[in-house]
Amino acid sequence: MTYLMNITDSGWPKTSDGVYIGRIHGTYKHYGNPFSHTDAPATRYVTSRTSAVMEYLLWLRGHRYTDHLAEQRAWILRQLEAGALLNKKLYCWCTPLACHGTHLMQYQLDLVPATCNDIWTF
Ligand SMILES: [Zn+2]
Repeated sequence: MTYLMNITDSGWPKTSDGVYIGRIHGTYKHYGNPFSHTDAPATRYVTSRTSAVMEYLLWLRGHRYTDHLAEQRAWILRQLEAGALLNKKLYCWCTPLACHGTHLMQYQLDLVPATCNDIWTF
């Protein structure tokens, strides 16, 4: 199963099945959301959490912002195509609030169909 974890509650990933999906500065090799409604170090700012999560979905799936952070998006797609997030605990700051991680999980399952045991949950 794949889970979304809250770092504030759970701490940083400590085992090999934990993957940090927040932003990392100085590299395009991360799952972090380029969109934010706060003063977080994003590259695009929007007006609400809902918008930040929805814009991530559109960017990740290539429906909008296709020129924005293309290397980061390509890296994410390579990871998902390899099944990198299957059966992982995804650590971010948001859960139980809306999080871009839900779209990462869904896209992972779309690209690499899961077994009946690999459903995602919060
Ligand atoms: Zn999040």
